[in-house]
Amino acid sequence: MAVSEAAVLREQASRGRRTVSILGATGSVGRSTADLLALHRERYEVVAITAHRDRDGLVALARELRPRLAVIADPAGYADVLAGLAGTGIAVAAGPEAVVEAASRPVDWVMAAIVGTAGLAPTMAAIRTGATVAFASKECLVAAGALMMAAIRRHGATLLPVDSEHNAIFQVFDFARPESIERIILTASGGPFRTVPRAALAGVTPEQAVAHPNWRMGAKISVDSATMMNKGLEVIEAHHLFAMPGPKIDVVVHPQSIVHSLVAYVDGSVLAQLGSPDMRTPIAHTLAWPDRIAAPSPRLDLARIGTLSFEAPDDERFPALGLCRQAMGAGGGAPAVLNAANEVAVAAFLDRRIGFLDIPALVADAMGRAGTAAPSSIEDVVALDREARHVAASLVGDREAGMGRR
Ligand code: NDP
Repeated sequence: MAVSEAAVLREQASRGRRTVSILGATGSVGRSTADLLALHRERYEVVAITAHRDRDGLVALARELRPRLAVIADPAGYADVLAGLAGTGIAVAAGPEAVVEAASRPVDWVMAAIVGTAGLAPTMAAIRTGATVAFASKECLVAAGALMMAAIRRHGATLLPVDSEHNAIFQVFDFARPESIERIILTASGGPFRTVPRAALAGVTPEQAVAHPNWRMGAKISVDSATMMNKGLEVIEAHHLFAMPGPKIDVVVHPQSIVHSLVAYVDGSVLAQLGSPDMRTPIAHTLAWPDRIAAPSPRLDLARIGTLSFEAPDDERFPALGLCRQAMGAGGGAPAVLNAANEVAVAAFLDRRIGFLDIPALVADAMGRAGTAAPSSIEDVVALDREARHVAASLVGDREAGMGRR
């Protein structure tokens, strides 16, 4: 970036307008972030927004948010985005390297909301600028947790959790007295199949799996919620974000998604954060932190809700949570392998190439077959991720051919 542009951005920050970028702007979290930025235009100046293939979505968002730069990761989309933004003065770039370059631009706040480990290089680039990173891309932390947390410390960056559960914990966690915390409790909605018998799970469709009862989210995380892999990934995420050992991280199913998570203290007190299931609340918390800004989320009406219920997770129908605990316990490269295999399995399920119950089975198989040596660099994580994807893809092929189908 030219020195003069960096100077302009810092000058804007010093005038009180915070500079922000959104990685994964066209996704569910990205759009919720855009909603908040549009609502608080006087506070924020948008520097860069990125997308993968959604050209029209990127053009529409760029016209609304007026960033300096719009990046499409898929180079095939470049000409369309360029044409769509002609005459606006917004610079356009394409390709994965351009996404990383956008993430490297100095800003006060970056939303890291690219789904999957595709977000790893851009998120690491944002961390290296020392920015405040609002962090949604949980797969990156699962795959590269220790390395990512070390980079945050090294570069003086700040990671603010966007995931509603981790954001809830962040709001009630006494960082000054971590020894006073006995355990943290993540709530899980239980997903669309919470009460569906195991035999019926074999035949569920992608449409049923993405129809989450409480949250509107991207397809991948919706399927993860249906398998409960999402909660397992969140246990690993919480382990890194809050330096809590696995046995001190509990999961409780809470079908209403009102209590977003809880922290239990040694004196028996349990503190929780509540809100309606709307990602604009945790995103607003990270955007304004340590202040607060208004978010248009529906207000909580406890009298109307009436009952909040809780139940233990069913490990038999939803083995993915146990797989994540297993990977976390094994450490090293096991979480990266689990994550990569899950990304491949979810994509194959969404493409109707494998069944719903094949997802955790395939992840378990991949964990037994891919290497799990502890990665010592981000490049190692990328290599492990690639190897695990290769193994998982061949397992998908086996299942498709009917050889390994359970
Ligand atoms: P979506 O699928 O809705 O959006 C993903 C975003 O990432 C899109 O902007 C997409 O671009 C972009 N993207 C996808 N692949 C690539 C790639 N290879 N290179 C660059 N950009 C890419 O996902 P969500 O918004 O639902 O989730 C984003 C992340 O946030 C996930 O890690 C998820 O687990 C986490 N999260 C999501 C929550 C939610 O409520 N949705 C809640 C808590 C966490 P395009 O649109 O062009 O495909």
